[in-house]
Amino acid sequence: MGKQEEFVLRALEERDVRFVRLWFSDVLGSLKSVAVAPAELESAFEEGIGFDGSAIEGFARVYEADMLAKPDPTSFQILPWRDEGPSTARMFCDVVMPDGSPSYADPRNVLKRNLARASELGFSFYTHPEIEFYLFKNAPEPGVDPIPVDRSGYFDHTAQSMGADFRREAITMLEAMGISVEFSHHEHGPGQQEIDLRYADAMSTADNIMTFRTVVREVALSQGIWASFMPKPFTTHPGSGMHTHLSLFEGDQNAFYEAGAEYQLSRTGRQFIAGILKHAPELSLITNQWVNSYKRMMFGTEAPSYICWGHNNRSAMVRVPMYKPLKGQSTRVELRTLDPACNPYLAYSVVLAAGLKGIKEDYELPREAEDDVWTLTDRERQSLGIDPLPESLKEAILIAEDSELLADALGEHVFDFVLRNKRAEWADYRGQVSAYERDTMLPVI
Ligand code: GLN
Ligand code: MG
Ligand code: MG
Ligand code: MG
Repeated sequence: MGKQEEFVLRALEERDVRFVRLWFSDVLGSLKSVAVAPAELESAFEEGIGFDGSAIEGFARVYEADMLAKPDPTSFQILPWRDEGPSTARMFCDVVMPDGSPSYADPRNVLKRNLARASELGFSFYTHPEIEFYLFKNAPEPGVDPIPVDRSGYFDHTAQSMGADFRREAITMLEAMGISVEFSHHEHGPGQQEIDLRYADAMSTADNIMTFRTVVREVALSQGIWASFMPKPFTTHPGSGMHTHLSLFEGDQNAFYEAGAEYQLSRTGRQFIAGILKHAPELSLITNQWVNSYKRMMFGTEAPSYICWGHNNRSAMVRVPMYKPLKGQSTRVELRTLDPACNPYLAYSVVLAAGLKGIKEDYELPREAEDDVWTLTDRERQSLGIDPLPESLKEAILIAEDSELLADALGEHVFDFVLRNKRAEWADYRGQVSAYERDTMLPVI
């Protein structure tokens, strides 16, 4: 047993931990958890804890169902919301097959593989997500409209506001779990919040997003409200995105930085953006994986609809932020397609793969979009070479089906599962008769 494992076993005793939750993600990004007694941990570290993979979304076919969850000791944390009485702790797990090989279905393993590919090229991948979500007064109930906790807007500070109290408690809890928060504020929509996590390597960020979604839901429940990461809960209010700032480092040098270059953006940075733009239509199925995701990406809600980049253009899909005179290490690109209901392991995997492809194959970066692309006509956009992103889950599926990039970055098993699952979601949705159809047709036809 290594030093990290021994540290965990000691901490279990010192902190009087009675339950250890072993966490992993299914292919769609839902958190899975199995609680074990501390006495089981030694063998969990050595062999893993067995579970039925066929019962988890996207994991295994029935005849190869036995899988093992092996805790990653570096992710050990006491859960701060179970602090009365004996403590509960958690660790993220790697999922392995009975022969000890990594599970082809484990999203964490998918990200590990993609990070290893980056590392073969000398790069490590850093990410900083801006996570948006809504807070509602009521828990969801079929046929009942969600009621936002407040009527505030962007950056509003109102006395005794629910949102500010909520953010304070959620951030305290996140920090108690070792997750640093950089900014937080009220967003545009009523009840809509944003909390931004500090830059970290992509694996830590993805783990942190999984923890974040759980913490935010737990804190909301403890305050008698409901938190949701649904990308577009209202027709008339903005959706929730998860813009992510991305950068590659070579050792301790930011590979996107070049002194004196335009926007201080290096050739590597330009190729990386070019990769993301070129493959954007294929990435959509993973960065925006739900029927509802596509309702966020419509005209005028600050979520991108068109494939282009700009340096200070919030209608662009990729933005090179220019807040302060850029210091070398902070050069980065902001990708604005992602939503907070994605599977962060898979989303960061495919985005990285697209960027790396741009670097390896020396893609040329198209001209930047200087206009507000939402106000241009289709013809103007066409003449500028600006294509639309997929407008629906169906379109995203059709494009993803032919993507070698996705098959390669996700591995055949995860790729197949995602396609099958999303086709089923679309088929289900397509058959629903909506309030919109009734409201517009019954009165007139
Ligand atoms: N809510 C917007 C989105 O969905 C982002 C708004 C903003 O942060 N400027 O992407
Ligand atoms: Mg922001
Ligand atoms: Mg925002
Ligand atoms: Mg942003």
